[in-house]
Amino acid sequence: MKCKWEIGDCKCYRYTDDVSQYCLFHRKSKSEKEKKIITNILNGYIEANEYLWNKEDNIYDFRGIIFDQDVSLGRIEINNLNKKVPFDFSYSVFNKNIYFDDYRFYSNVLFVNTKFYQDVSFENCVFIRSCIFDKSEFLSSKSKSIFYMCKFLGQEFVFKNISNGVKFDGIRFSSNTKFILQNVEYSKERYIDARNAYRIAKNQSNIIGDYEESGKYYYEERVYNGKMILPRTNDKDKKHKYIVPKIMDLVSKYIVGYGEKPQNVLFFSFILISIFAYLYMMAGLRFNINVDCTMNYHRTIKYSFLELLSLDVKEFMSDYFQAWYFSIVTFTTVGYGDIIPINYHGKVLASIEMFLGVTVIATWTSTVVRKMSR
Ligand SMILES: [Zn+2]
Repeated sequence: MKCKWEIGDCKCYRYTDDVSQYCLFHRKSKSEKEKKIITNILNGYIEANEYLWNKEDNIYDFRGIIFDQDVSLGRIEINNLNKKVPFDFSYSVFNKNIYFDDYRFYSNVLFVNTKFYQDVSFENCVFIRSCIFDKSEFLSSKSKSIFYMCKFLGQEFVFKNISNGVKFDGIRFSSNTKFILQNVEYSKERYIDARNAYRIAKNQSNIIGDYEESGKYYYEERVYNGKMILPRTNDKDKKHKYIVPKIMDLVSKYIVGYGEKPQNVLFFSFILISIFAYLYMMAGLRFNINVDCTMNYHRTIKYSFLELLSLDVKEFMSDYFQAWYFSIVTFTTVGYGDIIPINYHGKVLASIEMFLGVTVIATWTSTVVRKMSR
C-alpha cells in the first residue's frame, strides 16, 4: 500500500504496511526502533538511498519530512549516482538545526514551503544547477548570513514569497546566474539586510546584463535606504539633521520613483499645473482675445473664496479651463501672451511655476532617457 501523505501536487512514493497507512517518515507516532532508523540514516550509519531515493520521479526525496533532530546533510550516506539527481526539500520542516555546509549540489534543489525553525546554514555550499526557495519560512530570529561563502553556478537562484528575509552577505554567483529576489519582506530592525539584499540582486542583474530587473532592484534598494533615514533618538542635538535627507528621499521617491518611474513625473506635473491654475484664478487673470489680428476684446477674472460658494458651475469650469491652459503654457515656459496675470501675486506665482516647470521637465527627460537607453 502506498503512503497516504500528500500536500498539493506532492505525493509520497513510499510503500507501507503499517496500520497508520503512512511511511516511516510521514507517520506521526514512531516507535523507538523507527526513531533509531531515522537517526542512523541522518548520521550516515545506514545508507539513505533505500529510504530517500524516489525512483519514479528520479529525485532525492525529502518532501514533507519533519525533522526533530539536528541534520547535517554532509553526514548522510548518499551514493554518487544519487548525488546527481535533484534534491527536493518541499514541505519539509526542520524543527532543529540544519547544516548544508560544504555540500556540493550537482542538480537542482527545491525548498518550496520548507520551514526552518532553528539555525540553517549553507556555508561553503556549491549549487551547480538552479536553486529555488519559494514560500519558505525562516523562523529563527538570528540574523546571521546563512549563505556565507556559498556559490551559485547554475542558471537561477530564486528567492521569492518569503516573509522573513535573510542576510545574503558573502554570497557568490557565477557571471551568468540569475538571482531572482521577489516579494521578500524584512522586519524593521532588518532593513539594512534588505537594502544589501536588493543591492546584491541589482549588481548581479548588471553583471548578467538584465537591466530591466536591475532597475526594479535599484528601486527597492532605495526604498529600504529611505526607510532607514530616521531621527537618532538618543542624540537630541542632531535630531533635526535627519529632516533634510528625509525630505529629499520622499521627493525622490514620490516624484521620480528614484529615477525608475517617469510616469510619476507626469502625474506630479499634472497636479502642479492644476493647483497653479486654481491659484491664478484667485490672483486674477486677463483674457485677451484677438479678432482680425487686433486685440479688441478682453475680460478679467478674479475669484475669491466667498464667491466660490455661490457660483455658476458652468462658468467656473469654463474659466478654470482657461486658467489651466495659462498654467500649462507657463509651466512649459512657452508663454503665448494671450492670457496674462494682472497683478504681482499672479506674476510671482507664474515665476515660481516657470522655475518648477523647467526643473520638472528636465527630470522627466532624464528619467525617460535613463530608462530607454538601457
Ligand atoms: Zn510517506
